[in-house]
Amino acid sequence: MFIGHFALGFAAKRAAPRISLGTLCGAAVLSDLLWPVLVAVGIEQVRILPGATAFTPLEFVSYPYSHSLLCVAIWGLAVGGLYGLRLHGFRAMAVVALLVLSHWVLDWVTHAPDMPLYPGGPRYGLGLWYSVPATIVVESTLFVAGVWTYVRLTRPRDGAGHWGLVSLVLLLVIAYVANILGGPPPSIDALWMVALAGGAMTLLMALWIDGHRTI
Ligand SMILES: [Zn+2]
Repeated sequence: MFIGHFALGFAAKRAAPRISLGTLCGAAVLSDLLWPVLVAVGIEQVRILPGATAFTPLEFVSYPYSHSLLCVAIWGLAVGGLYGLRLHGFRAMAVVALLVLSHWVLDWVTHAPDMPLYPGGPRYGLGLWYSVPATIVVESTLFVAGVWTYVRLTRPRDGAGHWGLVSLVLLLVIAYVANILGGPPPSIDALWMVALAGGAMTLLMALWIDGHRTI
């Protein structure tokens, strides 16, 4: 799943209005930020395999540290704990930790049965990705609902708060469509570089935009 994770980040603003959109989205996509780094250094493996599922040409051979339920829960507790204790209290900790954990749940719904319970453990996945139309309907609905929640809750302080948000939403939609229509990535290196750079850029945009909007 891709924009569905961002949808939860946008929607979580309702549960924790004082946390920046950048942090909320960062928590929701944390696994997908760790993954390209671990692929780059060879700790996790992915294979380009057109037709792996209808939706993605990627076979996730092994990703125990970024995408097993146990490790995602540990990441959630660690990141949520640090963030909550240092800055914002228990509620912030719970929201951030649950967002990190939500990544596993959404990926479990979408992926082929490749989501491990724990490193080396059994792998599960409900396989929404076997159907392109169903994936698009589910993910787009989540995304519209999430963005709508954020737009209703916050208002721009200035032009940057308005046009920045419009740009971020457009960027995510364009990236999503390009992902669907584009062919498989040319190489694993290109894959992890684009994933890492794209993730970092969108989160920096979200941090910046949230500073230009108010509740
Ligand atoms: Zn993921």
